[in-house]
Amino acid sequence: MEFIPAKTILQKFTHGDNWFGADYNMNLYKGCSHGCIYCDSRSDCYQVENFDTVRAKKDELQILEKELQTKRKKGVIGIGAMSDTYNPFEKQYEITRNALKLINRYGFGVSLETKSDLIVRDIDIFKEINRLQNVILKLTITASDDDLSKIIEPNVCRSSERLKAMKQLADAGLFVGTLLTPIIPFITDTEENVKQIIRLSYENGAKFVWSMGGVTLRENQRTYFYNQLDKHFNGLKDKYIKTFGNHYICNSPNKNIAIIFKEECQKYGLLYKMEDIVKSYKNTNEKVKQLKLFS
Ligand code: SF4
Repeated sequence: MEFIPAKTILQKFTHGDNWFGADYNMNLYKGCSHGCIYCDSRSDCYQVENFDTVRAKKDELQILEKELQTKRKKGVIGIGAMSDTYNPFEKQYEITRNALKLINRYGFGVSLETKSDLIVRDIDIFKEINRLQNVILKLTITASDDDLSKIIEPNVCRSSERLKAMKQLADAGLFVGTLLTPIIPFITDTEENVKQIIRLSYENGAKFVWSMGGVTLRENQRTYFYNQLDKHFNGLKDKYIKTFGNHYICNSPNKNIAIIFKEECQKYGLLYKMEDIVKSYKNTNEKVKQLKLFS
């Protein structure tokens, strides 16, 4: 793996109030090799060259430690927005694991999303952080069918393995849920798929299911997505062009999906609104802290 220079690791999260209540954001790796056909991070606007090649940042743990030491405001650190931090190199290099240890040492919380079951390796550290800080973990699941998940997210474990990881995290007492996002028009936007994912999430200990809706398409990423459609879904590219033209956000024409999503989450008692999810995982921790205070 190549190591590239970096000046900073931690950034103030400008969407902190919305994106799962994170105050800071960091990407420990540049690029991602999971190969998701819909990946927004490969869009031109982010200027990540050779997106599919994972690179780490030189001396990043030392840089991160200095930044954590000097931040006046503690808070939740988001990991995994632009690159899945549990990539195939992480098993050997343990950069994420060591960053989590630093997060714990300096009293910060963590909000992490991944598609990899390697996340369970770090349950011990998440539990440590969760004793006094806020922890929220998200497994992205877009297709209940394993074969379909292997087509649309080819280089990472299948949905069923992610659900097993979810169960392990939930059994460890961690606040975990599903990112059902994106819902890909004409591919995963069936009522059956949405219902199955919500049911399976519930059965595997999810506290929430959150969805942003449709797929986003813009420069560079649109080309990649269309090439993948040509490869795996015969005739679908033309349907996309006809239905969405050059639109950035492409939502499912099936208007029932949003209604079903809400009804199914309610049926299983799963949170689905961002503000409720944030309030819940932060309150859960508050209770723990208060109990500690009075014990
Ligand atoms: S895991 Fe995320 S960052 Fe990686 S390819 Fe998939 S969508 Fe992109």
